[in-house]
Amino acid sequence: MRDDDVPVPELGPGEALIAVMASAINYNTVWTSIFEPLSTFMFLDRLGKESRWGARHALPYHVVGSDASGVVLKVGDAVRNWKPGDRVTVHCNYVDDQDPTAHDDSMLAANQRIWGFESNFGGLADLALVKANQLMPKPAHLTWEEAAVNALCNSTSYRMIVSPNGSQMTQGQSVLVWGATGGIGAYACQYVMNGGGTPVGVVSSEKRVALLNELGVEAVIDRRAEGYNFWKSDTEQDPSEWRRLGKKIRELIGRDVDIVFEHPGRQTMGASVFVAKRGGMIITCAATSGFMIEYDNRYLWMNQKTLKGCHYANYREAWESNRLVYEGKIHPVLSEVFPFEETGEAVAQVHANAHEGKLGVLVLAPEEGLGVTNPEMRDLLIDKITLFRGGA
Ligand code: NDP
Repeated sequence: MRDDDVPVPELGPGEALIAVMASAINYNTVWTSIFEPLSTFMFLDRLGKESRWGARHALPYHVVGSDASGVVLKVGDAVRNWKPGDRVTVHCNYVDDQDPTAHDDSMLAANQRIWGFESNFGGLADLALVKANQLMPKPAHLTWEEAAVNALCNSTSYRMIVSPNGSQMTQGQSVLVWGATGGIGAYACQYVMNGGGTPVGVVSSEKRVALLNELGVEAVIDRRAEGYNFWKSDTEQDPSEWRRLGKKIRELIGRDVDIVFEHPGRQTMGASVFVAKRGGMIITCAATSGFMIEYDNRYLWMNQKTLKGCHYANYREAWESNRLVYEGKIHPVLSEVFPFEETGEAVAQVHANAHEGKLGVLVLAPEEGLGVTNPEMRDLLIDKITLFRGGA
């Protein structure tokens, strides 16, 4: 990653130019930084061939970043709902609303992209270029950096847990959440608890167990302390280790889980398919530890489980999950804030699994703590807002 000056892109009719006050590190910034599984320049070239406006993105540099909070600076002629001066957060579903395939669930659109990953001019820059249908109101009780970290992970977890496009958890159900203090896991736990479900959180340190307990998650598994070894070798899994995990879950909550919130991928999928209850669902949005997955299909078909893929969120889902943050029902899981010049260090921490929750990046905000316009609501919620930073 490099910090450099580049020209401001031309503004399209349905677009907005945003002064970015703060941004966040997502795992996709790890992928863009290491060119895995692909170099993202391929995505930019493909977008460049679509239209005159798409051609702006095919450049020899990629301004990355898929989260931002900031202020609208300028809007294109076709923008109706936003004006300069509006305080916003940005969600990263980047779709062409003139494409008919985008008009049911826009995540199924043929040309659906993730802004700042499959498009240029993302959030890790002073100015970001977005489509107007990526904008959402900034939660007034949050600082710029707290408001910047939610959209990508929060909306993903909303779709996976709450939405009919995901697992649509109902009250009384239980959900095994891998990486439960990580970016998406920490929002997933909040959704499970808000919806009257029981999360079983999996983490890998005592510190993370304590953090989950403070968040309100009672059933927690420390995978490192338990020493699970689901793979005997690079090619062979150990079903007795899947069973040991299943037994631990039953000890903790007295039954098997209805839903598994899956994203580590190759390392855990065999276990995830095994421990879901008969008729249960394994919902997956990623494969951090490897995307060539193996599981024993007998446990899936004989026990009539569903394995369902899920990717980011459409505008409605992003809007709803932002509304829940706005209303103080879902809280940011910001643990640390980096100055813009140290973005690379923050990305390295996420890559090394050395962080909890989300890492924020200050861009145009000169210091932390700015941007709050509803201090009364903030005072009421301060313990929850600052939980991942070690409390108020
Ligand atoms: P984080 O790094 O913040 O959290 C991931 C968590 O997963 C870690 O806290 C860690 O928890 C756990 N983990 C890591 N490796 C393993 C492993 N081998 N076995 C078990 N647990 C593991 O990342 P995010 O939560 O932000 O993202 C997770 C994945 O989801 C990434 O691959 C990301 O690209 C993807 N993603 C996909 C989205 C989509 O729309 N499709 C949207 C957002 C994210 P611990 O060590 O404590 O167990």
